[in-house]
Amino acid sequence: MKPADDAAQLLELFGIAHAGRMASHSPIDGAVIGRVTNGDPDAACERAARAFDAWRRIPAPKRGELVRLLGEELRQAKPLLAKMVTLEAGKIMAESLGEVQEMIDICDFAVGLSRQLHGLAIASERPEHRMMEQWHPLGPVLVISAFNFPVAVWAWNAALALVCGNPVIWKPSEKTPLCAELVMQLMRRAIRRFGDAPECVAQVVQGDRHVGAEMVRDPRIALVSATGSTKMGRMVAPVVAKRFGRSLLELGGNNAAIVCPSADLDLTERAILFSAVGTAGQRCTTLRRLIAHESVAEELVERLKRLFGAVEIGDPRGSGVLVGPLIDGAAMNAMRTALTTAKKRKGFVWGGEEVEAVPGGHYVRPAIVEMKRQDGPVLQETFAPILYVLRYRELDEAIALNNGVTQGLSSSIFTTDVREAERFMAASGSDCGIANVNIGPSGAEIGGAFGGEKETGGGRESGSDSWRAYMRRQTNTVNYGSELPLAQGVRFDIAP
Ligand code: NAD
Repeated sequence: MKPADDAAQLLELFGIAHAGRMASHSPIDGAVIGRVTNGDPDAACERAARAFDAWRRIPAPKRGELVRLLGEELRQAKPLLAKMVTLEAGKIMAESLGEVQEMIDICDFAVGLSRQLHGLAIASERPEHRMMEQWHPLGPVLVISAFNFPVAVWAWNAALALVCGNPVIWKPSEKTPLCAELVMQLMRRAIRRFGDAPECVAQVVQGDRHVGAEMVRDPRIALVSATGSTKMGRMVAPVVAKRFGRSLLELGGNNAAIVCPSADLDLTERAILFSAVGTAGQRCTTLRRLIAHESVAEELVERLKRLFGAVEIGDPRGSGVLVGPLIDGAAMNAMRTALTTAKKRKGFVWGGEEVEAVPGGHYVRPAIVEMKRQDGPVLQETFAPILYVLRYRELDEAIALNNGVTQGLSSSIFTTDVREAERFMAASGSDCGIANVNIGPSGAEIGGAFGGEKETGGGRESGSDSWRAYMRRQTNTVNYGSELPLAQGVRFDIAP
């Protein structure tokens, strides 16, 4: 079936009218699969500000109930929503189902969290005084999301923001607006079942970056959680900072894996295959740099060439397919440019050729590029399946290469030597937000805090204590005595 027909069926099932000026194209064949209407940023901010006043008064465990209902809706709609992810973002079905599962997982996490938004009780130096801290709702949260995780990124943010007492406005990628429409339909169902939630506690505002930029400037938005390229972060961060708003940035990565002499190569090659070619190399956590010890590099590269050569590339709805299309022609051009530049710098390129799978789509064989030095295109994030290979002798040299880029999202080491693993995770080891041992850099679970350092933006979302970014901290000191002792022993009495 043509992607457009598949999409039309889904839109009808969800009761979504697909009219509007903004077209969505499927990367499978490049055809238009639906249209949406541009949103009104100013009206959305006003509605969110009003919703905040009501939503923050509802007790957090009750707010959790709304997220529990959303989780139920997602469970029921999982295969349908996953199909739209495949149609609009080009992921294979297994990965799309995994993305929706992540949404369900974060809902479960947030429901539990809604009873655990706790502060500290702190010892006071003053007699008959008590100190504590509370976490209060922050205000409307704007979620800007990228095309490559068209539904999960919203859920990581929205599930936490909602239990924390904040309304959410979503500006999805202009490349994946239909996924957002389906999710919002599920959210509306959850709101109806919940009963007394303010109507606009969750909204979507469709549009391009200008629509996003308008809301980024708006002082009614308390937190801008922006996921996308470092270029986007460079524009968003100063604007939010100028108005003293809060931002949470999840930007580009340039992730490496170190393969040590003691690595289990059977496990390593499988981990590399998933991390480097999964989602056609279009994950923020995609493995882009392989730093292999000189004693294993040759064998590993030969193994990878066999795997990369055998991988089935094509329509992501097809069974057995592991690599779907690139998102569009611009992504294909970026890949070509990176490979040409690598060749000019004496890089040895294997693969990377175009594959004729579905007319109108951009399909490519994942590339392996052996480089003498870490320079040129290796330093950039090209959002395509290119794996650069570098060699090392000493672990310190490998760690320096791992850290020798401007991005700092995810990293891995493959070793069976506990000392090497610990050195990699130590303070002087990997400088990334994520450092894994014997698994690849991609495929994070929602229980941990997700995000990275340097030009990846420094934000953390999803699990652990990431919820604190969505709340404001208040320190309270209570005097339950009849004296007024001042802190630090200060005396401030009028002389008798
Ligand atoms: P992109 O930067 O082109 O767009 C991302 C979003 O930002 C879109 O919704 C876009 O409309 C919006 N946007 C762009 N400029 C803006 C501006 N000035 N003001 C407000 N909004 C603006 O990214 P993309 O091509 O959709 O996604 C790929 C990039 O996202 C890669 O760099 C990838 O590494 C990154 N990414 C990072 C993470 C992470 O968690 N660190 C996750 C997914 C994707």
